[in-house]
Amino acid sequence: MTEQDLAQLWESVTKPLLEVFDVRVFNPVVKTCSITLLTPEEIRISVDNTVNKQFIRKYCEEKILTNITEQTGITPEKISYVIRPGSKERSKVVIETSEPQLFQPTRERKYAGELEANPHITSNLNPKYTFKSFITGTKNRLAFAAAQAVADSPGNLYNPLYLYGGVGLGKTHIMQAVGNAVIEKDPSKKVLYVACENFLNEFVTAIKKGNPDSFKKKYRNIDVFLVDDIQFIGGRDGVQEEFFHTFNALHQAGKQIVMTSDKRPSEIKGLEERLQSRFSMGMVTDIQLPDQSTRLAILQTKCQEKGISLPEHLLKFVSEEVETNIRELEGALTTLVAHLHTQGGEMSINNARAMLHGIISQHSTPRKSKVDVLSEIICNQYGVKREELLSAVRQREIVRPRQVLMYLLKHEVGMTYPMIGREIGGRDHSTVMHGVDKITTELKKNPTLLEELQVIKSAFYDAK
Ligand code: ADP
Ligand code: MG
Repeated sequence: MTEQDLAQLWESVTKPLLEVFDVRVFNPVVKTCSITLLTPEEIRISVDNTVNKQFIRKYCEEKILTNITEQTGITPEKISYVIRPGSKERSKVVIETSEPQLFQPTRERKYAGELEANPHITSNLNPKYTFKSFITGTKNRLAFAAAQAVADSPGNLYNPLYLYGGVGLGKTHIMQAVGNAVIEKDPSKKVLYVACENFLNEFVTAIKKGNPDSFKKKYRNIDVFLVDDIQFIGGRDGVQEEFFHTFNALHQAGKQIVMTSDKRPSEIKGLEERLQSRFSMGMVTDIQLPDQSTRLAILQTKCQEKGISLPEHLLKFVSEEVETNIRELEGALTTLVAHLHTQGGEMSINNARAMLHGIISQHSTPRKSKVDVLSEIICNQYGVKREELLSAVRQREIVRPRQVLMYLLKHEVGMTYPMIGREIGGRDHSTVMHGVDKITTELKKNPTLLEELQVIKSAFYDAK
């Protein structure tokens, strides 16, 4: 391949990383690297400095190599990095360093533990999804306990186990943890994890090729069957029929089935009655977004696992602000680490907020309307203008209504101090805290204020 080919290849295999990293990280780190050699024996990546090298290795390497294999058919045995001569070395390193490892193709590397334990079966499990690496709180404890019980005694307790909940809340993680735990305890157990979509595709291919028997055999000859995102089976009639028989065969033989979904069985559109009832006959349990303190614990654990260190106040900030799901929480962490990594030095909460704009703004959109509704009511009540209320103006007539707004956003809408600060003229969370405290104290001795608040609250709840 010519230098130009290699440059083009680098561009196309790294492009998907833009979905994960901000351009402010992507451009200085990923874009500045290049491939200088690509053969089945070796791929050589040229980087500006060791910091970038560590970053690529830790966060991008696997994806890049998968893409290279996909695009060129080459899976190099070894990966090496060269620091481009004459480039400046940066001194700040946030991520711990380790010696380069020999590269093995992703599949083998990913499944190394499992292949050793159980050489005849590909269970498709990712060894990093274990019970140990899953942090529990009130919102996911039940699902976790049920999964552990199932792993302790497959086929005996809850069969099937059906876990449902929103995206990125740990369903796949818990489900694979069941598989990993079963294999760890008894390596002869046949565990099979499959994403429902793959099951569908395999089925269609088997029918097309005229050999449904091998498909049947594969899926009826397992001890623990893990089917991820089963909702995709809705409306797929032929496959539902086959799945029904697979399910029955396994269930009757006392084999364990675990399924995940984004909905309850009764909410899956186009799901046959008989499957609906099968799915519900064991245990159906949901997973919800962990609360803030659990989110903080998850972040701390992820930092430990990845060997990175972020200041506590930033972790706390992220755990308060990212209220969508754990995948985004992890994404936020990676973005911040990447930024610290390339820039070095300190990061303020304001910087962090700017970096995480995409993630944070998503969930604050629905809340906007509540802020608007409350602001309007308060403006009417006190006869002030909205722009003033949400500005930094310090006049007494404005300060009180603004503190009332802060208080109600905190206690009625359930927003965090930083979120409120952002809504009200970009104030610091300590200012908001002070405002809320002020109202709390005054409420105890001022019955007029109490009445005013009652009026505002009832107008607010009427408006909702
Ligand atoms: P889902 O299947 O529900 O969409 P995943 O299982 O893929 O979600 O989880 C998304 C990411 O978040 C994974 O990297 C997973 O390890 C992580 N994760 C989710 N919940 C937890 C938790 N409670 N503790 C640790 N990591 C978690
Ligand atoms: Mg999943």
